[in-house]
Amino acid sequence: MTVLKRASDECMIEKDLGFVLRRSNFRDTSVIANIYTLRFGRIAGILKGFYSGKREFTSPLEVFTLNEFVFYPKKREIWLVSFADLLCDYPILRTDLARSRAAGFFLNIVERVMQPWDVNSQVFFLLKESMAALQDYPQTKVLYVFLIKFLTISGFKPEFNHCIHCRGELGEDLGFSAAKGGLVCGKCRAKSDDCRSVTGETSSSLSYIQKTDFPQVLRIRPTPACEKEIMYVLRQFIAYHLDIDLSGLNIESKTWARQYA
Ligand SMILES: [Zn+2]
Repeated sequence: MTVLKRASDECMIEKDLGFVLRRSNFRDTSVIANIYTLRFGRIAGILKGFYSGKREFTSPLEVFTLNEFVFYPKKREIWLVSFADLLCDYPILRTDLARSRAAGFFLNIVERVMQPWDVNSQVFFLLKESMAALQDYPQTKVLYVFLIKFLTISGFKPEFNHCIHCRGELGEDLGFSAAKGGLVCGKCRAKSDDCRSVTGETSSSLSYIQKTDFPQVLRIRPTPACEKEIMYVLRQFIAYHLDIDLSGLNIESKTWARQYA
């Protein structure tokens, strides 16, 4: 993206890509939107005259959509957005409730965790890949891939490669500690009382997803039991470290909900 021109000494006009996280009407004709941008992180913008048919606003600006924006970065909280053009509206999210819930959760967790103007292009591209993947892959798989990657790049960094206590190899008979934020080897597990046992397949799947880029990461095919365990690990981690209850998301099967309730 390039700087278009210098409007004044303090105010540059910028062009950037962004996902609409949330929007609300402002007075009769305007919209205020929370947007996750590629180069500026999370911003709030006002689109003045959005409902008066301005030709600069060709996007319907719905939640989930990816748009190109032109705006004026300022020190104040709400930036003036002068142009919005729709790039992708992910049509399946308008008709498929489970996928729409998963996408809504992606946007919600990004909005809650990422501070305003905290630039993280990896988060932007993760959103882009995950929204696209929801068109073609089961939502549960896209959800756990998104969560493992989001926790890793947003600073929570769950440890899935070594024992979080002794840094040794994980080996057999391992466990997961939500409080410590990672997997625990057999020896350390015997000494701690806050671990739940996890299988080797779950451990290697968590590690593989953490290390593998899109689109290859979507080729992973864990067994249903392993997927349940991955979701259990993530649910515990997120409840402990982010205080977010994943069970309310309700995109899992009833069996899963019963087993781990
Ligand atoms: Zn250990």
